[in-house]
Amino acid sequence: MASSPARDGETRPDGTPYPVAKDEEAWRGVLDPREYHVLREGGTEPAFRGEYTDTTTEGVYRCRACSAELFRSDTKFASHCGWPSFYAPLAKDSVVYLQDSTLGMVRTEVRCAACGGHLGHVFEGEGYGTPTDLRYCINSISMTLEPLPEQP
Ligand SMILES: [Zn+2]
Repeated sequence: MASSPARDGETRPDGTPYPVAKDEEAWRGVLDPREYHVLREGGTEPAFRGEYTDTTTEGVYRCRACSAELFRSDTKFASHCGWPSFYAPLAKDSVVYLQDSTLGMVRTEVRCAACGGHLGHVFEGEGYGTPTDLRYCINSISMTLEPLPEQP
């Protein structure tokens, strides 16, 4: 069954509630329409348009909806797929996974473990030569980069 955070976002896949819960009206108040479409409705931003696609700035990528830490720049790699790509989340419990059967294929959806916001998908075994052979293909608009302070 197709999943959409707007309707089934009450609990995580393991049945526990998301620590950051708001009703959809409240999310509309804190996210602009494009952010809302991706984070709460599972949309996808166009390839090669996101602001972090080719970013190499060091720092931490936080959830744009709830500010939870999601990914670190040191696991970001150049996949040339058109979206920011990481080979691992910041911590194992930073994200949760759901099976997504939309678009006629089975993919693994990645959501923020804190608020259930849609982040993107994870793909396995593509041969990118990263330590995990995973590609977390994440929408820029789902994240905010917090750059590391400049080193003296
Ligand atoms: Zn979040």
